[in-house]
Formats: sequence, structure tokens, C-alpha cells
Amino acid sequence: MTSSTPMIEVTQLRKSFGKLDVLKDINLSVEHGGVVALIGPSGSGKSTLLRCLNLLVQPDDGSIRVGEKSFRFGQGTTAPGSRSLAAFRAQTGMVFQNFNLFPHMNVIENVMEALVQVRRMPKAKARDLAMAQLQRVGLDDRAQQGTETLSGGQKQRVAIARALAMEPRVMLFDEATSALDPELVGEVLQIMQKLASGGMTMVIVTHEIAFARDVADRVIFMRDGYVVEEGPARETIDNPAMEATRSFLSHFH
Ligand code: ADP
Ligand code: MG
Repeated sequence: MTSSTPMIEVTQLRKSFGKLDVLKDINLSVEHGGVVALIGPSGSGKSTLLRCLNLLVQPDDGSIRVGEKSFRFGQGTTAPGSRSLAAFRAQTGMVFQNFNLFPHMNVIENVMEALVQVRRMPKAKARDLAMAQLQRVGLDDRAQQGTETLSGGQKQRVAIARALAMEPRVMLFDEATSALDPELVGEVLQIMQKLASGGMTMVIVTHEIAFARDVADRVIFMRDGYVVEEGPARETIDNPAMEATRSFLSHFH
């Protein structure tokens, strides 16, 4: 399983919005099949970092490699062209806090859409593939329903199936359970856990500390645009070295 070259490598990444330095010098590496939890206070740069990993946000400086594709940013570099950008993005699937399902499409159409529009797959084949992904998240019996009939947890499972249908090498989760009623959090975490144990490489921004401790291999604690502390998930969460990490984690007990 383990391979010497990591799946994701980020070096000296910087990003500012105007005068606000949001990512200051981020170095990060995730091995193949690795699961990393990004934790830290609101505003610390977690979402921005995740968005840099699929170039929804373009970094100002540094480099990012996912799989075999890499980009450098900053002085002397040229902005990635739309084709290489699309190829880079296709390697990652992203799941957002608010699901971002297409409201005018039913469940299976949501999962098929990119297969047909982006991959140019024939509809019948896309439908089979989408159905298989819906099975994976336990929603194949809801395939023909409108998304408005689903609970938040079910919507998020559809969003996960939709991302998986594109066969990404990496899955990025940005607070995937934060918008859910408490009783619906478990069903989404369960799918994420299943993905993790199936060998998917994952970067998870989460406030579910117990989940991060149990499912992630490594945890990265961010504050003010820096990585303050990083280490094996269980060890770091149970026994953080830095005061900032201790103080943040104390809010969850
Ligand atoms: P987190 O996900 O850890 O809460 P974010 O990455 O969302 O943090 O935000 C970090 C900081 O960057 C915040 O101060 C936020 O207001 C700011 N920020 C994020 N995105 C933008 C943007 N597109 N334009 C301006 N400021 C932004
Ligand atoms: Mg965020």
C-alpha cells in the first residue's frame, strides 16, 4: 500500500486576499491512502488551504503536487492553462458544507451530470456508474427522487456519490457535517469512514474531533495561516504539544 512518493505535496504555500495573509507558509504531505484531518479555529485558513488543493483558489507562492501533476506559483511562473487546470482538478473530489446539489435535478441526475457533461459518457453508461455510486452510499433506492425530498444527511451522501463518480484520487471534505442536524451526522461520518478504510486518500476539515482522532492517520492544527502542530491523530489530539492546540481542543470536551 505505502509508496515512497506522497500523493499530495504542498511546499511553502502562501495566499493573501488583499492585505490579509491567509496562508503564510504551508508545508504538507499526504501519503497514498492517507487520511489527514485539518483542524483549527474559524478563520485560520483551513478552507482556503483545501481550495488551494484543487485550485479553486490560486496560491500566490509555493508549489502543489497531486498525483503526478504539479504546479508552481509565484514569481517567474505562468498561471496554469484551463486544460491543465481541468486535468489537475479532475484528480480531486470535493464535498462542501452545504452539499451544493443541483436543485432542479433528481438524485441520479446529480450523480450523472459531470459524467455526461465533462466525461462525455453515454447516458446509459453514466446511469450505471451513478447507480453503483449511489449503492455505495446506500441511496440507490432514492435514485429517482427529487433532492428536496432528502434529509440533509442523505443530500450529503448524494454529494459524496457525485464526487466519487468522477473517480478522484483524492477526496477533500470541508466541514461536510457542520450543516447537519446532530442526528444526521453519523450517517455521513460512516460513509467517510468506509472510504478511508477502503484506501481513499482524504483531507478532512472537521470539527468532529472524535472522528478525526479515530479515522485520520494524521492531524494538522492550523491557526492564523500557519500549521501550528502536526502529528499522528490519536497522539496529537490526546496529548497536544502546543498550548494553542490544547486551548482549541479544550472547547470540545
Ligand atoms: P477557515 O476555513 O479556517 O475558517 P478560511 O480559509 O475560510 O478559514 O478563511 C481564512 C481567512 O481568509 C478569513 O479571515 C476569511 O475571512 C478570509 N477569506 C477567505 N476567503 C476569502 C476571499 N475569497 N476573499 C477575502 N477573504 C477571504
Ligand atoms: Mg472553513
